[in-house]
Amino acid sequence: MEDCVFCKIIKGEIPCEKVWENENFIAFLDANPVGEGHTLVIPKQHFETLLSLDEKFSSGYIQALQEVGKVLRDKYNSEGFNVILNNGKAAGQIVEHVHFHLLPRKKGDNKRGFFIA
Ligand code: AMP
Repeated sequence: MEDCVFCKIIKGEIPCEKVWENENFIAFLDANPVGEGHTLVIPKQHFETLLSLDEKFSSGYIQALQEVGKVLRDKYNSEGFNVILNNGKAAGQIVEHVHFHLLPRKKGDNKRGFFIA
């Protein structure tokens, strides 16, 4: 998709702080983080929402989240993490390239979960 900001990141036309990648997915820091280590995990092929993912990408997505979760745990010493996906405009999705938000958490960090909209 020519004017998709995340497709531009994948193509290297817009810079990002890469956290992890494999053949089909890439994870990078959110440009406007709600907390330290706020990371987005996206497929390298353009799909607008979770519902439009094909079989190959839907089956690999959970594994990608697991790998990024481990990287965040090691990098930020986190004890857990939140996973959020805003699916569709009505749910607060702004960038129309499907993406999971991951937020590293520690016990007693006083964050009450997170919701982005
Ligand atoms: P959503 O509301 O779920 O669509 O969230 C979109 C997220 O993308 C927001 O948290 C933005 O801060 C983030 N974002 C937008 N543009 C960029 C960018 N160029 N690099 C990193 N994160 C971005």
